[in-house]
Amino acid sequence: MKTLLQMPAVRECTAVACSFNDGGCHAPAVTVAAAGGAASCATFVESSVRGGIAEITGTVGACARTDCVHNANLACTAESIQVGSGVTASDCLTYQPA
Ligand code: SF4
Repeated sequence: MKTLLQMPAVRECTAVACSFNDGGCHAPAVTVAAAGGAASCATFVESSVRGGIAEITGTVGACARTDCVHNANLACTAESIQVGSGVTASDCLTYQPA
């Protein structure tokens, strides 16, 4: 069984209300969902618990936005993504409809 060393980084996330956000995303592998016309980070959570791993930068684990040019087999092939306010508080701003 193989594991992936390199997944697209969440290089910027302005959803500061998210528990995984501490000067950026620290979730090991976010899921991006197809929410209406948006590509919304489904890992976004508001909680009193600090989420993620402080030493790592968040990455994209899976993405349901199959119409994005960067999407291949429900995975993201972009070098990195930006997350921020759009239709939702935590949209993938790198989403580019084909
Ligand atoms: S860039 Fe496209 S494929 Fe990658 S996470 Fe965003 S919406 Fe999904």
